[in-house]
Amino acid sequence: MPGRILVVDDIPANVRLLEAKLSSEYFDVITASSGPQALEVAKAEAPDIVLLDVMMPGMDGFEVCKRLKADPQTTHIPVVMVTALSDVSDRVRGLEAGADDFLTKPVRDVALFARVRSLIRLKMVMDEWRLRQQTSSELGIVPSTATPEHESFHNARILICEASPIETANLQEVLARDGHYLQVAATIPDSQRQAAAGELDLVIVDLALGDDEALRLCSHLRAQEKTRQTPILLIAEEDQTAKLAKSLDLGVNDYLMQPVDRNELLARVRTQIRRRRFQDRLRASYMQSLSMALTDQLTGLYNRNYLMTHLSGLMQRTLASGKALALAMIDVDTFKQVNDTHGHAAGDEVLAELAQRMTHYTRNFDTVARFGGEEFVVVMPDITPELAMLVAERLRLRVADSPMKLKSGVVLPITISIGVAVSRHQADRSEDLLSRADQALYAAKRQGRNRVVLANDDAGAVTPAAEIVGLKERAEKLDARAEPI
Ligand code: GH3
Ligand code: MG
Ligand code: MG
Repeated sequence: MPGRILVVDDIPANVRLLEAKLSSEYFDVITASSGPQALEVAKAEAPDIVLLDVMMPGMDGFEVCKRLKADPQTTHIPVVMVTALSDVSDRVRGLEAGADDFLTKPVRDVALFARVRSLIRLKMVMDEWRLRQQTSSELGIVPSTATPEHESFHNARILICEASPIETANLQEVLARDGHYLQVAATIPDSQRQAAAGELDLVIVDLALGDDEALRLCSHLRAQEKTRQTPILLIAEEDQTAKLAKSLDLGVNDYLMQPVDRNELLARVRTQIRRRRFQDRLRASYMQSLSMALTDQLTGLYNRNYLMTHLSGLMQRTLASGKALALAMIDVDTFKQVNDTHGHAAGDEVLAELAQRMTHYTRNFDTVARFGGEEFVVVMPDITPELAMLVAERLRLRVADSPMKLKSGVVLPITISIGVAVSRHQADRSEDLLSRADQALYAAKRQGRNRVVLANDDAGAVTPAAEIVGLKERAEKLDARAEPI
């Protein structure tokens, strides 16, 4: 795993020691010997992680940590406080300053590498999300979100996997302070069952649970779809470092040592819940921006961008397998009059209703897109020209025969004109297909609107639906049976 680590300590011997340990594991190490220098280097070099000494003359580690976390340029870099004091209040102060973890001197290798690896892994995931988020906000789609520190840490759903009733009671009492919803499981099978059943924000697992089975539980939680992203907080004994290191490799997010300090427990639980909620928020806003970038807000249909990208791929695939693909270009007749007479909002209502009918009267693997203002496109893969004309004619009838009922109470007759073009040969390009459909649509308009026209070739020869014997009758019958083609 590549990783660039900034080691900060005012005592050169300490810096060299950590540098040697980390370099031997192929981490790229940079150093700083004071608080102000650390801030400067962190900004300039963007390390993946900062190992920060607490006791430094001038600006101490807590202050450096606070400033790193307050600066948008460095707020996302995980900070591990390295402290000589095993004083718990110091650890909690560090976590409150925004530190992601701490190590106590003398630093043990297992703990050092485990912590560093797990924080770098977390950072890689967060970096990826932030990048997507940034792209979205650059596209002007969703305002970029803040940092995990702004997330609430209250009212989370937490599963406690703990065999000892006394420990369970302790944990429950402390966690109740933050208003969490607590579930308890005293055995491995019960833990698995409850984890599978609920939407959990955090799982706390005592390493003492079920004789050595606790690690298996952690890997089970990581393997299940439902709990893959759920943070796991482990409770371990001092002499369980090897197991602890293994569990961090399995994807456990954090750990606490027995005897559990109440403030440290609260601080670590809060950190995990905030991170989890932040990640959820990034994911949700990414999905939202993705759908906003691909779909049209008024009608919910795919937009032109999506259609153009999708169409060429779809044509290639369909035509390569020897099948034909049809494209219907649809334009609302004299739509300007609707706006002029009933207002733009009424026009919008009509477009939304039309979109619904188009989706309803096409097959669910056909693609319906809003191509422009009052123009729509339906792409129908694996279809014959006759069937495509039948679908188009039915759509025309379903619009012309049922006037739009607007919210205002106005009942509005609307008609559409449709140009259909079919592609059969692999050499055909999507622009050619669109252009043929457009020519057929133009012919439909010229011939009086409210009609379907088929493009026969590139030269503009067309066949009006009216000339296809029995088409209208068949389309009407299809309607009567209300069965999608
Ligand atoms: P034709 O039968 O020749 O297609 O006549 P038309 O009036 O439909 O043609 P034209 O292209 O002149 O007018 C299209 C109108 O569609 C103009 C525009 O104001 C309106 N329009 C485009 N997008 C929207 C929209 O999102 N909402 C509303 N309400 N109107 C729109
Ligand atoms: Mg129009
Ligand atoms: Mg138009």
